[in-house]
Amino acid sequence: MSGANNEFDLIARIRTRAGTRDDVLLGIGDDAAILRMPAGHDLVVSTDTLNIGVHFPPDTAPSDIGWKALAVNLSDLAAMGATPAWCTLNLTLPEANSGWLDAFLDGFLELAALHDVALVGGDTTRGPLSITVTVHGFVPHGAALRRSGAQVGDDVWISGTVGDAAAGLALHGQATRNLRERLDRPTPRIALGLALRDNASACIDVSDGLLADLGHVVLASHVGAEVDVALLPISGELLDAFDATSRIAMQLGGGDDYELCFTAAPARAADVTAAAKRAGVVVTRIGRIEAQTGLRVRGADGVVREAQANGYRHFDTPRDEAWQP
Ligand code: ADP
Ligand code: MG
Repeated sequence: MSGANNEFDLIARIRTRAGTRDDVLLGIGDDAAILRMPAGHDLVVSTDTLNIGVHFPPDTAPSDIGWKALAVNLSDLAAMGATPAWCTLNLTLPEANSGWLDAFLDGFLELAALHDVALVGGDTTRGPLSITVTVHGFVPHGAALRRSGAQVGDDVWISGTVGDAAAGLALHGQATRNLRERLDRPTPRIALGLALRDNASACIDVSDGLLADLGHVVLASHVGAEVDVALLPISGELLDAFDATSRIAMQLGGGDDYELCFTAAPARAADVTAAAKRAGVVVTRIGRIEAQTGLRVRGADGVVREAQANGYRHFDTPRDEAWQP
């Protein structure tokens, strides 16, 4: 960032507030962090960038941007069944605005504290607002969940409810507080990911939309799936706010929910439900893995339609293109 004082002032602010952990041998302040891995574990690493106007509306509160920047990354660790430990933060800011930074850190560090994640480094530069977070977590050797393990006959499950973040985005200023929170302050399903490690055959977090992300699972697993619209979990607020056609489009195609979509053998159903209960999350069976590749959607009318391989990529995709024949 031009104006070295500004950059170092900002970094000093971050350093003062960042939490730490026993396994952080050296955190912010040197050329690199030094971190100690627990014995017998694999390191799981994920990174995601949030750009203004693309990944959050320009009117999003700085504290919500901070929360979301970490949440979308923790959600990736959740989908792998990993326990989060450390993160780095690359901030590109249009100006060295310490008030903005403090508010951003309020949301970011609130979520970090909830999951005992230490901020151990990063980079600070000038440019259009953009935030890149990298998270590091652990799993016992070989125990991580992957997209590629779905087996023919497995049940397809989803946590929580889907379509709420898309509804929050579509309603914008008119959204109820809960719907807007689903968009601005997603809950990474860390405890569920851990609880699923022994029970799920494949797992992904729903960032681009249920069909799009389930599409990644079936492609990676060389299988297909049928999803039953009648089984999709829905929040009372989404039910109240939209007609059936819009609701279904949001449930199948809306992004940003950060729920976990996973597969498990039918014999595991009771274990899955018990694991979810321990994790404090509701899970719902919404379909079945099939040998025939591709995705199919059983509509409210009972008719099964082929969905495009990609399903929805964004809520913006006209719904007629995405899952109707
Ligand atoms: P270098 O020039 O050696 O890369 P920097 O001046 O970029 O060093 O960073 C100094 C220290 O501050 C490093 O430990 C770096 O990880 C940390 N740091 C810089 N920006 C951030 C940030 N946005 N969040 C957390 N740590 C940061
Ligand atoms: Mg640097």
